[in-house]
Amino acid sequence: MANLEERYETHDYDVIVVGAGGAGLRAAIAAAQAGVKTAVICKSLLGKAHTVMAEGGVAASLGNVDAYDDWKLHFADTWEGGKYINNWRMVELFAKEAPERVLELERWGAIFDRTPQGRINQRPFGSHRARRLAHIGDRTGLEIIRTLQDKGIHSGIDVFMEYTLTRLLKDPQGRVSGAFGYRREDGRFVLFRAKAVVMATGGCTRSRATPGSPPATAWRWPLRQARNCSTWRWCSSIPPEWSGRRGCAASSSRKRCAARAAVC
Ligand SMILES: Cc1cc2nc3c(=O)[nH]c(=O)nc-3n(C[C@H](O)[C@H](O)[C@H](O)COP(=O)(O)OP(=O)(O)OC[C@H]3O[C@@H](n4cnc5c(N)ncnc54)[C@H](O)[C@@H]3O)c2cc1C
Repeated sequence: MANLEERYETHDYDVIVVGAGGAGLRAAIAAAQAGVKTAVICKSLLGKAHTVMAEGGVAASLGNVDAYDDWKLHFADTWEGGKYINNWRMVELFAKEAPERVLELERWGAIFDRTPQGRINQRPFGSHRARRLAHIGDRTGLEIIRTLQDKGIHSGIDVFMEYTLTRLLKDPQGRVSGAFGYRREDGRFVLFRAKAVVMATGGCTRSRATPGSPPATAWRWPLRQARNCSTWRWCSSIPPEWSGRRGCAASSSRKRCAARAAVC
C-alpha cells in the first residue's frame, strides 16, 4: 500500500485558517505577525468570499459624524438587535475594537469615503442609533478584502485556493490537529497537519444544516459560538429613511430582522 504522503497531498503548518473572507484573512495576518508558519485555505478563489459583497459599510463608533456615539451605544444596539441571545462578551469586544480595526484598515491602504472635514465618513443603517457605518461607496467589502489580501500576502501567509475542507482531525489526546479535504481542481485528497486550526468559514445560518460543511463538522464538538455579532442584521429591506432609527422601525420588517437575527 502506498504511504500516506503518496496517497494524499500533505502540508504542515503551525496555524491553518479555514476561510479567506475578512475574518480569516485578519486572523491569518495576526498569526503571521506572531511569527508562526501560517496558511489560509479557501474553497473558492482568493477574494471570492461573502465579504466582498458587503455594501453598506463597517459599523464602528468612531463618532466622526454623530459625536455622541461610543462603544457602549454600539454594544446596546447590537445586543438589542440580537434579541439578547448574543454572546455578550463577543459583542463587547466587537463594539470596543471596531474603531481601531477601521483605522487599521486605513493604515493598511483602504481608502474610505470622507466627510467635508476630511474624516472617515459614516452613514446610517438599520438598528443603529448613530450614523456609524464607515464605507467606501457601495463597495466597502471589495476594498476590505483587497486591503487584507495585500497585507496578508506581504505578511508571508501561504494561500491554498480551491481546496474544500470537510473534516477537522483530532490527535489521540482529543486535540484538534489538522483538517482533511480535497482539491476542487482534480479531486485529490489533501491533509493539513497543524498545531492550531482557526475556523473562519463565514455565515452560520443554513450552512449549519449542510452535512460536511466546516461549521457542521466543527459543531460535532462543543465549540463556542459567536452568536449574532453581525453588524448588518439583514435590514436592507427597510426603506432608507428608516435607517439609523432604533430597531428596525416597526411592523413586518422589524419582525423579519428579529427572526433572522435569531438564527445566527
Ligand atoms: C450581499 C451582502 C451584503 C452584505 N453587506 C454587509 C454590510 O454592508 N456590512 C456588514 O457588516 N456586513 C455585510 N454583510 C455580511 C458580511 O459580508 C459577512 O458577515 C462577512 O463578510 C463574513 O465574513 P467572514 O470572513 O466570516 O466569511 P466569508 O466572507 O463568507 O468567508 C468565508 C470563507 O470560508 C471559505 N470556506 C467556506 N467553506 C469552506 C470549506 N468547506 N473549505 C474551505 N474553505 C471554505 C470560503 O471560500 C470563504 O473564503 C453582507 C453580506 C452579503 C451576502
